[in-house]
This record gives sequence, C-alpha cells and structure tokens, in this order.
Amino acid sequence: MSVKKRTSKNVLLDTALNNFYGAADEMGLEDDLVEILSRPERSIIVSLPVVMDDGSVRVFEGYRVQHSTALGPAKGGFRYHPDVDIEECEALGSLMTWKCSLAGIPYGGGKGGVSCDPLELSTAERERLTRTFAARISPIIGEWTDIPAPDVNTGAPEMVWFMDTISKMRGRLEPGVVTGKPISIWGSRGRTAATGLGVATCVRELLKTVKMDVKGTRVIVQGFGNVGTYAALSMSQSGAKIVGISDVTGGYHAPDGIDVQKAFGHINSHPKKLLEGYSQPGLQKIPGDDILLVDADVLTPCALEGAVNARNAASIKAKYIVEGANGPITPDADEILSSKNILVVPDFLANSGGVIGSYFEWVQNLNGFFWTEEEYNSRLIPIMTDNFYRVWNYSQTHEVKMRRAAFLVAIKRVADAVKMRGTFL
Ligand code: GLU
Repeated sequence: MSVKKRTSKNVLLDTALNNFYGAADEMGLEDDLVEILSRPERSIIVSLPVVMDDGSVRVFEGYRVQHSTALGPAKGGFRYHPDVDIEECEALGSLMTWKCSLAGIPYGGGKGGVSCDPLELSTAERERLTRTFAARISPIIGEWTDIPAPDVNTGAPEMVWFMDTISKMRGRLEPGVVTGKPISIWGSRGRTAATGLGVATCVRELLKTVKMDVKGTRVIVQGFGNVGTYAALSMSQSGAKIVGISDVTGGYHAPDGIDVQKAFGHINSHPKKLLEGYSQPGLQKIPGDDILLVDADVLTPCALEGAVNARNAASIKAKYIVEGANGPITPDADEILSSKNILVVPDFLANSGGVIGSYFEWVQNLNGFFWTEEEYNSRLIPIMTDNFYRVWNYSQTHEVKMRRAAFLVAIKRVADAVKMRGTFL
C-alpha cells in the first residue's frame, strides 16, 4: 500500500483507521479504494441554540457524519454525551458502514450526536434540543439519503421528536426518516430489544462453538442501558447466570446471579432509568469499573468505548468477550487480551441486531405494513446467527482474529460496490 495513512489524536478514530488499513493491506485493496474508504463522504457540524427552562439560551454543538453511501443510504444513530465530537462520529460512522455491510443490509454508514450531558437536561429541554438538531441537519437527512436512529442516551422519545420536526418542515409524514420510533408511531414491535437480543444470540452461538452449556455460564453485563438490559434478559432466559451488572451509579455484583427481571423493573421505575438503590439478597455494590474484573466466563461490555483498556485488561478473568457497545476495547487492551487467549466477538458483528432491526422497521415504514414481534425476531435471529458463523468460519479457516475476519468480509462488499458504481465523471 503506498497511500499516506491518516492518523488521529482521537483514540476511537485512530483505532478505526488502523483496523481499516490493517485489513485493507491484508486483502490487497487497491490504493484508490483505500483513499476513498478511509474518509467520510460528508461531515457537518451544526450549532444548536436551545431555550433552557429558566429562559436563558444555551448553544450546543451537534454533528452528523456520513461515512459511506456506497451500499445504500447512510445509517446510524445519534448520541447525547459530553464527549461526542466530530472525530468520534467519523469513527463510529465508519463502524456503521462495516456493520451494515457485514449484516448484508442495503445501507451505508453514518453517525451523529450532540455534545451535552443529558442527565442535566429536563425532558422539555431535550425535546427542544432534538428538534433543533433535526432542523439543522434536515438538508442531509431522508429515507433515501441518511436515516438516524437511537444511540447512547437517545431512544424512542428523541426519534419521535426528530421525525415530527422533519415531517412538519417538509409538510408530509416522513416515518422512514428515522428508526427506533415507538410502536404506536410507526415503530416496530421488536426494535427496542433487537440489539440486546443480537448480543445474546452471539453469546449463545459462541458458547455452542466452544462446547459450553449456556445454562449456568456466568456472564457480566457492563452497562445496563438499552443494549445491556435486553441482552441480560435474553441470556438469563436461556439459563445463563448474570453475575454482575453496572451503570453510571456503580457495579452490582451477585456471584449467585442477579435477578435480571427485578433489576429491569427497578430501572423502569427509576426517574432516570438507573440502577441507583437496587438491592437483592447476596448483592454487593462495587465501583462501576470493577464489574469488568469480577470472576465470570463471558464479559459483555455494553456501555461506552474504551471501557476495557491497558489499565484493566490484564485483570479481566472472563475467557470470552462479546462487544455489545461500539469500540469498548482499546487496541492496546486487544493485544493484552489476545496474549491471554481471550476470544473477542467484535462490536460490529455482536451489536448489529440493532441496525438489522432498524432495517426491518424502515422496510415496514416504506410498505406501511407492520409485522408481529414473532415475525420480527424470527427474521432477526437467523440473520445474526448466519453472520456470526460467517465471521467465525472465516476466522477459523484463515487463522485470523474474529475482528480482522469481520473487517475483511465487510470491506470487500463495500469496496465491490464502490468499484461497480464508479467515481463520478
Ligand atoms: N446505534 C445503533 C448502532 O450503533 C443502531 C443504529 C441504527 O439502527 O441505525 O448500531
């Protein structure tokens, strides 16, 4: 490869670029394709003036990055978090390109977000922020151009505000402009649980391949938001023992098993949907980061990027890690885990249930015809299972790590599309 490789001070972007260049090199990808796919097609930064409840005006910064539209409209969530910036969105947008490609769905990749602390915002402030964000990025959003969805700290309410704002601006209903909507407003039965169900499916298939019985397998679920809760519920229904869960309020460790239904009920009655105050017999409250290190067979990091890093990787006891979050393992930690023979199922395979579910919702929106939850799940689980084995088998045959295998498979499909479509003029 003779291209000048891009680097970034942003760890997530630098990692995304390194993973891409590494795989591109291994597959002998042509230089022009390396150049094209190492950059986003479009990135925008918007400023978002919001009237706060006390009457003052605060200006937030928002972002939307479309990494690739070679396979279809850009697809990916938008998040609300103090650390969001344009480079993070670029990294996560590229991950969405590979995720959609690997999943075999007709989408490119994108990501967006607003730099803010959602825990400090009232519901009314979040609504005004979301509507302003939708209006500002409206020119580049649409059911055939770019379709946002929930991500960290955003969910069904934000998606409704987003869709409603775009619909009002365009003077017609635009249900397919965003996915992850509530069931009553053009959402899909099954979408809320889809990412967690996909993570749980990967855990179950992984255990099958390594000949471990899911019953009694001890699992840690770091992050008890949308992904973690539904992953934990599904895994415990299969008989796995969830020995630890965590969120911003700390770690909750129960060697004999967390009562996942009870913990789920607890967050649903908590005003901020947190585990704060959760109790059950045999529960030990520990610092949030320590949950990663408790004794278990499988660790599923389902919170934010960089959770497993050079400081804690050597102390991880689990033998298997299934990445529910996007980018939860830093590259140096990846090396440490590899030297300890810990097997990692990569994020853009493990958490692809969400975007596959979003694809189902979009298909239903375009048709104006809705499926039952059974139909939704009966399509989702076989796709997740097939994708798991596509990557597993590739990694076994070519003797590469699952992350590298996933990149090789995903990049090929996008590169083929770029080649077939050609460059403009
Ligand atoms: N935010 C989710 C992800 O990172 C879902 C994206 C989508 O459904 O478009 O995969």
